[in-house]
Amino acid sequence: MRRFTGCFLAALLLLGLTACGAKEPESLQVIAMDTSMTFTAYDGEGEEAVSAAGQEVRRLERLLSKTDKESMVSRLNTAGGERVAVGEEVCSLLKAAETYSRATDDTFDITLSPVSSAWGFTTDSFRVPERAELDALLKNVGMGHVSIQGDTASLDAGTQIDLGAIAKGYASDCVAEIFRENGVANGWAALGGNVVALGSRPDGSPWRVGIQDPQKADDPNAFAGMLQLKDAYAVTSGSYQRFFEENGKRYHHILDPATGAPAESGLLSVTVVADDTAGNGTMCDALSTALFVMGEERALNFWRSGAYDFQLVLVTQDGRVVITDGLADTFTSEGDGYVCETVS
Ligand code: ADP
Ligand code: MG
Repeated sequence: MRRFTGCFLAALLLLGLTACGAKEPESLQVIAMDTSMTFTAYDGEGEEAVSAAGQEVRRLERLLSKTDKESMVSRLNTAGGERVAVGEEVCSLLKAAETYSRATDDTFDITLSPVSSAWGFTTDSFRVPERAELDALLKNVGMGHVSIQGDTASLDAGTQIDLGAIAKGYASDCVAEIFRENGVANGWAALGGNVVALGSRPDGSPWRVGIQDPQKADDPNAFAGMLQLKDAYAVTSGSYQRFFEENGKRYHHILDPATGAPAESGLLSVTVVADDTAGNGTMCDALSTALFVMGEERALNFWRSGAYDFQLVLVTQDGRVVITDGLADTFTSEGDGYVCETVS
């Protein structure tokens, strides 16, 4: 069996970060939440901002990690159905997760945790579960098994949660807030594939955010396209980020709650882009996962419904890069071999 982990490969890379003659930015790199994160501030109290951002992601990791036995998520997962005082912050994130599940026809579901563990994605002991095993586990999947009351929550016995598809997005919202509090108007943070780009580069031009070419996942300089962003979040979910292969078949980490198996939606990656309104980091993260599960047609219909304000870049298995028309002036095609389409 071959194993692959893309934890340290940010799906999005920011390019062209220094300008001649400009003040050196303050930058900090940390490993947290199972990924490499970089915080860079060009103005304001930059040193304080990046240092506080580092502490913030560690605080969130201690609160939200499913593998840290002391975390609120672990306490909830091991409470055997009892109610746990998880606190206001965790409750509002759980409510956000519930809202995104409902909005996306349950393609986003934090209660897939036991299913994800059955595939070995938690421990890296990868295996392909039997259909009967998945069906049994799916009985405990669904947001109906989660109850949130005030600052407490409980899970039905047998249900467990994993905030891996939303926690880094939430962390990016918290980091953006810390940057603002420290007067950082121009800077960026990359939390794995979750990017927030504030203001602009020192020469006033937009930040350049590369979308990883999923076909060349081990080359961090291979892009399917490039986005030019100011004051925006961009979050990518892709099947190339974490997967294993068995008997020539690839099994990746984004699961379809309808089947309990890796989503086979015809997509290789989904990038969700939205403005820097507070909360949009969380939204982009939840939606990038959900829309990956949905596949191209459903994802575009969801976008057209206007339920949320965002734009999309889809990289498809059949070699297309599909962008929604709000990115027409922002996106440039990069990778060879992709046909680019703009949809409205
Ligand atoms: P990444 O964390 O790799 O950037 P995502 O944001 O798409 O990518 O989150 C994927 C993680 O979320 C998985 O590793 C798993 O823990 C969990 N997960 C998998 N499928 C789903 C799903 N359909 N809804 C919610 N969480 C999911
Ligand atoms: Mg996500």
